[in-house]
Amino acid sequence: MHADMDAFYASVEQRDHPEFRGKPLAVGGSSARGVVAAASYEARQFGVHSAMPSFEARRKCPDLVFVKGNMPLYSRESRRVFEIFKEFSPLVERLSLDEAFIDLTGTERLLGDPATAGENLRRRIHSELGLPVSVGIGPIKMVAKIASQVAKPDGLKWVKECDVRFFLDPLPVSRIWGVGPVSAERLEAAGFHTLGDLARTSDTVLRGQLGDWGVEVAQLARGEDIRDVEPYRDAVSYGEEHTFAKDIADHTLLESMIRTHAESVARRLRRDGIRARTVVLKWKEGRRTAPGPRGYPLRSRRVTLSDPVDDGQAIAMAACGLLQRSGPTVPIRLIGVGCTNLEVATVSQVQLFSEGSTQRRKNLNQAIDRIEDRQVKRGEKDQD
Ligand SMILES: [Mg+2]
Repeated sequence: MHADMDAFYASVEQRDHPEFRGKPLAVGGSSARGVVAAASYEARQFGVHSAMPSFEARRKCPDLVFVKGNMPLYSRESRRVFEIFKEFSPLVERLSLDEAFIDLTGTERLLGDPATAGENLRRRIHSELGLPVSVGIGPIKMVAKIASQVAKPDGLKWVKECDVRFFLDPLPVSRIWGVGPVSAERLEAAGFHTLGDLARTSDTVLRGQLGDWGVEVAQLARGEDIRDVEPYRDAVSYGEEHTFAKDIADHTLLESMIRTHAESVARRLRRDGIRARTVVLKWKEGRRTAPGPRGYPLRSRRVTLSDPVDDGQAIAMAACGLLQRSGPTVPIRLIGVGCTNLEVATVSQVQLFSEGSTQRRKNLNQAIDRIEDRQVKRGEKDQD
């Protein structure tokens, strides 16, 4: 099950301030340099979304109400949300402040079928926290994650094993988990537009056109996902990780995975109007030390930066630094990049590097976010 709160900060503000209910609301800074960190569903109807400059948001929606972000409040609400998540399964993988995978394997006798468990979770969050949440259920993580987006707002979608291909086939390749805008363009250029296009292609053709990566992506498109639900350690974190088909020791390859994950984490931070001060590198050693799928030692290293970041290159630099200084010394089966120590981004980014390079990165990030917006529009709705 993938559970994802709807317009999380905005919903918390609307719950605590009845006068804001039913109104277009933005959490963020209203100053000249202000940005929107989160938008209520009412505001989204005007085209307001996170990471948009506040002046532009106000132009699209003159009645937009601005509320300053309150990270301690959202973090506290996030903890309450996760306390409820954890009552449904001990295996909860945190993807962000308001979104998690919950492994329901083996809970049917206790919780009923997955749809019953999902509706009960939604009801409890509604009644105890007064907040809307959407739930997706599927046999693999990626399907559950896409299903929760389809269920939004305030709904539930269960994709049964026999319906997975029917559900996935028409979706655009940008919806594949882990395929960012650059990879999506590469797939499009090779003539793969939907998951069905990839799923129907033989491994030989895929390998010839796209290398081993193409074979892996097509496996996901067919609904074959080997990723387990991985409980995270951090109280609040954003992360992306990759399980390799075979153990990897080559640092060049690991660094390129780190850069991909860093860009993807950074996009999610920007989407959620968040910046992070701490970057975490984690990995799982290939050598099993205990029985079962969770018997591989999990390690992590972290570094805290002087300025909070939402930029993929800055996150990648920090994570690659950790890899070089204190990374794995044995082949590993999983690598992940995470961000924690978060704050609401209410003004545009302070100087990270020199003036010119900051501006260039900002322009690049906006371009990346625009590409992603375009793909989402071409596909189905994609909402947080
Ligand atoms: Mg959300």
